[in-house]
Order: sequence, then structure tokens, then C-alpha cells
Amino acid sequence: MSSVLVFLEAKNNEITRISWEAMAAGHALAEGLSLPIDIALIGSAGNPIFETIHGKPPRTVYAIDHKLLHAYTADGYTAAYAQLIEHVKPAYVVLPHTYQARDFAPRLATRFHQVLISDVTGIQAMGGMDSTVWPTFVRQLLQGKLNAEYHQTGKGPCFLSVQAGAFRADEAVKGETVLEPFLPKLESAEIRTQPGEPFRASAQTVDLGSATILVSVGRGIKEQANLPIVEELAKALGAELAASRPICDNGWLPMDRQVGSSGQTVAPKVYLAVGISGAIQHLVGMKGSQCIVAINKDENAPIFEVADYGIVGDLFEIVPALTAAVQKAKA
Ligand SMILES: Cc1cc2nc3c(=O)[nH]c(=O)nc-3n(C[C@H](O)[C@H](O)[C@H](O)COP(=O)(O)OP(=O)(O)OC[C@H]3O[C@@H](n4cnc5c(N)ncnc54)[C@H](O)[C@@H]3O)c2cc1C
Repeated sequence: MSSVLVFLEAKNNEITRISWEAMAAGHALAEGLSLPIDIALIGSAGNPIFETIHGKPPRTVYAIDHKLLHAYTADGYTAAYAQLIEHVKPAYVVLPHTYQARDFAPRLATRFHQVLISDVTGIQAMGGMDSTVWPTFVRQLLQGKLNAEYHQTGKGPCFLSVQAGAFRADEAVKGETVLEPFLPKLESAEIRTQPGEPFRASAQTVDLGSATILVSVGRGIKEQANLPIVEELAKALGAELAASRPICDNGWLPMDRQVGSSGQTVAPKVYLAVGISGAIQHLVGMKGSQCIVAINKDENAPIFEVADYGIVGDLFEIVPALTAAVQKAKA
């Protein structure tokens, strides 16, 4: 019987959030097609990281273990993943859309005479495997102006990578599963690159992706001198400060605080958009947030189309009142 196989990634011995999102996408696909789901992660089966797998129960968790996989190389990962795919024979292979996956996944797909459908933001039109309805994968084109729909033709597994924030990782639930070591056959001669030190962002770089609450400010703030209004709200909420592109282009906040198609993609528990219109280039970076709250004086601002809670009004009145209310509640 065919299946869905999801490859997870770990960083600093923790499974990354985008991996849980890829797993949620894999579950959506598996449930829609009535297929079993398996997941795989590089590492020894004895590694405690495997105890942290907490999603809806997959059929099997494969621990892909080999000393040549201790450091990432495209050659090593491609060869090892290809061997597992040949062993499991899945119909669908799902990966998180990370720099690493971008590096090796197209090559992995090519090994099976397939292409990688990258940056998937949605899965539609699913039926059972016997039905004529097949899954359609949605990805954005032209800076989010167009949604393109893709489906697989031909035989072989269908490879897709899932964009950060597009699927909600917390849709997973706890359950029992089987942990199985998978020992690929790898020769050092087939690894043609020498891994260097992993890239470390400079200490100043803000990882908005790991923030639980983001207060994000847009051009409605009018001038840099007004930023303390939102900074105080962020401080009161224990939130990170983020921004739309014009704020960063103006140099009012550093570029690493920009959210959107040319900034960071985020999916915090709460995203508070203050004076942001909701241009598509901004929305693609934050619409996966669990709860979106928007403050805007224009009731027709597109941000309200994705907002769970909307406040129509002047941010210069609302934000200080909100800050005072949060401070009072915490006192
Ligand atoms: C190739 C490309 C890439 C891009 N990448 C990004 C990106 O990564 N991220 C990004 O954000 N943008 C990006 N943009 C820009 C994007 O198209 C928008 O121009 C930008 O997001 C608008 O920012 P904004 O919402 O802050 O400003 P505006 O669109 O000017 O909106 C300001 C909002 O504030 C509201 N407002 C004004 N005064 C008040 C007040 N007193 N109280 C309450 N509300 C008020 C207004 O009603 C308005 O809705 C990109 C554009 C291009 C072409």
C-alpha cells in the first residue's frame, strides 16, 4: 500500500517548527487520500529527540542513521533519502521548505524522474486513491499576486516542500508510533563536498520566526519618532517588534524586523498588525499566524480580510490604551 512520507529536520537537537508544519501538511494529505503516513529524521534511534515526536501518530518513524550524515551534505542526504524512499515506496514525499531542502530536494526528486513542487501553501481537491480527484498543490507566484495550482502527472512519488507558516503545526495530537532504525549504505567517496562550520547569524539578528507574540508596525505610525508607542505595547506583551517593508526601507527599524515576501515568514500565536494595510507581499509572510489582530483606521483595509479580530480606529488612541490595559492586567 502506498503512503505519505514526511522528512523532518532538526536544529540544535530540536525538531524545527517548520518540520511540524510539514508533518501537519503530510497528515492533511494522508487523511484526504486515506493513506498511512510515515516520518523520517536523521539520527540514531537512541537519540532522545525521537521521544519528542508528538504529532498525530504516524505508522512508522524512521531514524536514518549513518556517520556520513552527522554533518549535512547534499550528496549524503540525497543518497540516504533516496534509499529510504525506495524502501518505503511512498506516493508523496513532503519536506519543510528550508534552505537545506532547497539545496538537495530538487536533486532527490530528479533521481525519481520527478520535479519538486516547492513552497506549497495549500492542498486542495483531494479524493480517495480510487477516485478521479487528485490533490492540487497551491504555490504563489509573482510575489504572491497569483496562486498557481499544480498536480502531479506520471508515475513515481510526488515531491513537495511546504512553506513556513502555511500549515498549523499544533493540529497534531499525541499518539503511539513505531520507531525503526534505517541504515543507508553510503560510501565516503560519494560525498563530494566537505561540510564547513554551520552558518550562524550574527548576535543582533532577530529570529522573528521563534517569537510567540509579534507587534508589527506599518506606515500608519507616520514617523520614526512615534515608534515608542508600539515599542511600549510590545514590551508590555512580552512581544518582539516587527514591521512592514516601508518602515525598514526608511531605516526606522532594521531590515531583520521586516515581515513579508522579501522579509521573514512568521507564524506566531498572536500577530498584532498596527497601521498595516495588508498588501499581499506582507500577508504572505504572516497569514499563517494563529491569531491575527489588526488595528487600522480604514475599515476596508485588506488586513481585515485575514484578521481574527479587527479594531477600526486611530492607532494613536488605541495602542496607548491597550498598553495601559495590559500593564494594569499584569500589575
Ligand atoms: C517586490 C516587492 C516586495 C515587497 N516585499 C514586502 C515585504 O516583504 N513586506 C512588506 O510589508 N511589504 C512588502 N512590499 C511592499 C508592499 O507592497 C506594501 O507597499 C507594504 O506592505 C505597505 O506597507 P504598510 O501597510 O505599512 O503601508 P500602507 O500600505 O501605506 O498602509 C498604511 C496603513 O495604515 C493605516 N493608517 C494610517 N494612519 C493610521 C492611524 N492613525 N491609525 C490606524 N491606521 C492608520 C492606513 O489606513 C493604511 O491601511 C513589497 C513590494 C514589492 C513590490
